[in-house]
Amino acid sequence: MTNHAVVIAGGGPTGLMLAGELALAGIDVAIVERRVTQEVAGSRAGGLHARAIELLDQRGIAGRFLAEGKAMQVAGFAMIPLDISDFPTRHNYGLALKQERIEQLLAAWVAELGVQSYRGVDVTGFVQDDGVSVALSDGRTLRAQYLVGCDGGRSIVRKQAGIEFVGWDAATSYLIAECEMTEPALGMRRDAAGIHGLAPLGDGRVRFVSAEAEVRHGEPTVDELRGELVHLYGRDFGARNVTWLSRFSDATRHAASYRAGRVLIAGDAAHVHSPAGGQGLNLGLYDAVNLGWKLARVVRGAADALLDTFQAERHPATARTLAITMAAGPLNRGDVRTDALRDMIGEMLKMTEPRRRYAGLLSGLDIAYDLGGAHPLVGRRMPDLDLETPDGPRRVYSLLHDAPFVLVSFGEAIADERVRCVTARYDGAWELPVLGAVAAPPAVLIRPDGYVSWAGDGDVRDAITTWVGSPR
Ligand SMILES: Cc1cc2nc3c(=O)[nH]c(=O)nc-3n(C[C@H](O)[C@H](O)[C@H](O)COP(=O)(O)OP(=O)(O)OC[C@H]3O[C@@H](n4cnc5c(N)ncnc54)[C@H](O)[C@@H]3O)c2cc1C
Repeated sequence: MTNHAVVIAGGGPTGLMLAGELALAGIDVAIVERRVTQEVAGSRAGGLHARAIELLDQRGIAGRFLAEGKAMQVAGFAMIPLDISDFPTRHNYGLALKQERIEQLLAAWVAELGVQSYRGVDVTGFVQDDGVSVALSDGRTLRAQYLVGCDGGRSIVRKQAGIEFVGWDAATSYLIAECEMTEPALGMRRDAAGIHGLAPLGDGRVRFVSAEAEVRHGEPTVDELRGELVHLYGRDFGARNVTWLSRFSDATRHAASYRAGRVLIAGDAAHVHSPAGGQGLNLGLYDAVNLGWKLARVVRGAADALLDTFQAERHPATARTLAITMAAGPLNRGDVRTDALRDMIGEMLKMTEPRRRYAGLLSGLDIAYDLGGAHPLVGRRMPDLDLETPDGPRRVYSLLHDAPFVLVSFGEAIADERVRCVTARYDGAWELPVLGAVAAPPAVLIRPDGYVSWAGDGDVRDAITTWVGSPR
């Protein structure tokens, strides 16, 4: 039996990011992934939102993604664009980049960090006692202190852990296909069923997405694809060489618990929803970065209760996102009353305040964990300020590359061996997305995930003890 501190079921975006976070903290982590390569069937996610880019920036790897994708305004509600270029962040945009490339770049990073991967095998089950025995489809068993299910919406880990997947069945199913066509009627249209679109993929193929007249289940056939095209356009454009044919829906489900003892779930394993708004992959990255450092600390002996804060923080944040994806669904319909409503909401979202509010949610920049604390920075992302330090100019995010706790003091030097201490000067504005200007704090304690756990002028040592533990 092979031992690891943590086994991750599933090496999609969430599992890869989590593995990277654990490896950075020096934890022996292994990924078990069904796919032999990082190839992704079909296109799936088309990019990253601003907060996801910031998280990668915190680890020093955003440049790899920015070099390959196209920076653009990607946030939108029900196809109504929400521009974030006035948000106070270095990354006031999203990134168009295919999920497959995102996964490949994450996999390369994880490989550099020395994470072991078991590929071409499934996790088939597990038994928990004072650890977890994880059964693989090739007959092997892995032993770990913790198992994390990052194994997607149909998560076997979630099911076997008996975690309820609470939510709503699909109101609309969509057929999606990538294939060759002759003179397709490119563009988008709406009808009573919802939205339909034909878009070029840039390599001669076309992607067809179509809201179906009634909710259907299972994988569609090529005949169904042709039938749907004829139903909508009166012809099938000679659809051929189908490279991807699938079905997705706006079914929305959220795990009642992100944890069952030594077993946790994250990403799509913990929440599924409509792809409207392009949130799923991004939510998985937010989960992974929230959980990674906590699990690392617990493996190293911190109180197990720290793991419960993963659900306490991420569940409400994700619930807000699930709600907005559900709100967008009905607006996709194309009848006159819905058109009128969409136009009205579109007008409202042009106003600065509503635009910022919903763009903050969809870009992930407004995430606010309830950590107590009087200063508005507490629980929110630390801005990537340009600091002047005794060692020269430093960006805040460069201090987080190896995922430590960082204490930045803007006044007197503070020394504490439990955290990375930096004394800095910063004369610029303190501004947060959505919230606007906030008072400059005399000192901030930043968690490894880039969220502020303490800000103020009291004694920071108590805060360090709460978050990091007593001095040795
Ligand atoms: C059509 C479509 C469009 C989308 N568009 C967007 C978008 O624009 N933006 C966005 O952010 N998201 C989008 N999404 C959602 C996004 O693809 C998912 O949210 C994201 O892939 C979730 O990542 P994950 O790692 O949690 O799960 P997955 O990507 O599902 O990864 C799970 C991994 O686990 C593996 N696995 C499963 N079971 C086992 C097992 N038992 N043992 C071992 N391995 C296992 C799988 O092979 C897979 O690699 C879209 C999805 C669809 C279907």
